[in-house]
Amino acid sequence: PKKILIVGGVGGGSTVASQIRRLDQDSKIILFEKGEHIAFSNCGMPYFIGKTVKEREDLLRDADSFAKKYQVEVRINTKVTDIDRTTKHVTYETGAETHQESYDTLILSPGASAFVPEIKGRNENNSFTLRTIPDMDRINAFIKDKKPRSCAIVGGGFVGLEMAENVKKLNMDCAIIDRSEHVMKLVDKDMAAIIQEHLEAKGVNLLLKNSLDAFTDNGETLQLSDNKSLQADMTILAIGIKPNTKLADQAGLTIGKTGAIVVNEYMQTSDPDIYALGDAAETADYLIDTPSNVALAWPAHRQAYIIANHLADTAAPYAGTLGSSILKVFDLTVAMTGHNSASLTEKGIPFQEVRHDALSNAGYFPGAEKISIKLLFKPGDGKILGAQIIGEKGADKRLAVIATAIKGNLSVADLAELELAYAPPYSSPKDPLNIIGYKAESMIEKQS
Ligand code: FAD
Repeated sequence: PKKILIVGGVGGGSTVASQIRRLDQDSKIILFEKGEHIAFSNCGMPYFIGKTVKEREDLLRDADSFAKKYQVEVRINTKVTDIDRTTKHVTYETGAETHQESYDTLILSPGASAFVPEIKGRNENNSFTLRTIPDMDRINAFIKDKKPRSCAIVGGGFVGLEMAENVKKLNMDCAIIDRSEHVMKLVDKDMAAIIQEHLEAKGVNLLLKNSLDAFTDNGETLQLSDNKSLQADMTILAIGIKPNTKLADQAGLTIGKTGAIVVNEYMQTSDPDIYALGDAAETADYLIDTPSNVALAWPAHRQAYIIANHLADTAAPYAGTLGSSILKVFDLTVAMTGHNSASLTEKGIPFQEVRHDALSNAGYFPGAEKISIKLLFKPGDGKILGAQIIGEKGADKRLAVIATAIKGNLSVADLAELELAYAPPYSSPKDPLNIIGYKAESMIEKQS
């Protein structure tokens, strides 16, 4: 039996522990988590703040029952501070004490941290990030005690947009400040326009091409780059995240172009006895030959499975990350996979695009809603390089079909051939995906 140490006990760390135990009943597994909670549902935090999720406990997992179920030694409030690769042991701190633990295999899943630039005049009592349960608790305590009427959100990505919906639900005024031309950088500008229109219709004040220069007035006034100012009782900083690579870097493990820990297709770092996964790991992109660091739950869970199988000698390689993601913005579903125009252009990859705006289901049936689909594909063979789908109904299932089509190596024209189920409440005899397939087919034919 081996001794396996895991650093980080949430998305990737707790999953890899349970996956290893599925295949190996003998090894000793020790899980180190510097925070108080393991295996919590960070994805649910915005919805607890907005009171859609009612019970805080529903986001948490009891460390003792996890330890018992998977026969894992769980050490919370314990931070790993150093890795000695020559003697194969780690140093960790718990309270004021420092100890060491040896390993045969070390697995790093330290995640990422919210990126917070130096901002003049920032008051930590009324400006927040959202990454951990203590972050969520601080936001909730502020809302309960101070009853803020307005919230500024800096950054219009996943967390920023989810928080906008949730603070509006609490009847606060809400403004989103983003330095880009449009919100949600993962979709193209024309698709982001749909989101922006919806946000404005819901009363969100959008301040684009604008950045936060400084706070004044005890952190309650934001000075923006267009020389205007904005009053807000609280601010959420959702600017982005940075992979936690300090430990790996100190230990001399290779850090890649994306700023994350380089791993091979079995998730081994440059030291084969040390694996890394999740938000801190740099994998390959599924579609094109480029490194990828995608901070989402699916890659972390799949990578946990890959590591467990590699350790058990039943290895399957990690195929790379496609980046399928989905987001609720008030009544809209925003779903995407693969690359967008900006990332393909930046990488110099030629592509064509096709867009189709349709109804989610038969127009005469009550509740049919607009759905917009955009696909990017390779000229010539029509290989699908990316998809963006936005609508109030049926966007999630269309995205799932495209993500599956990509993994099944279907071309954009093959979509015309998919026999998707139809009845008026769900679709049309020609599903919007069939139609976009026909459209793409004719674009490809015209070219050849
Ligand atoms: P984490 O789950 O963040 O775990 C890393 C852990 O390592 C942390 O708890 C940290 O305390 C610990 N740690 C770090 N360094 C040390 C050390 N030296 N010693 C001991 N412990 C250490 N993904 C989706 O796919 N869909 C969503 O809807 C979604 N929503 C999200 C909403 C929010 C608000 C947030 C914050 C994230 C969301 N994510 C979502 C992302 C998803 O949660 C992450 O991709 C996933 O948790 C990654 O797992 P991880 O193990 O890499 O990192």
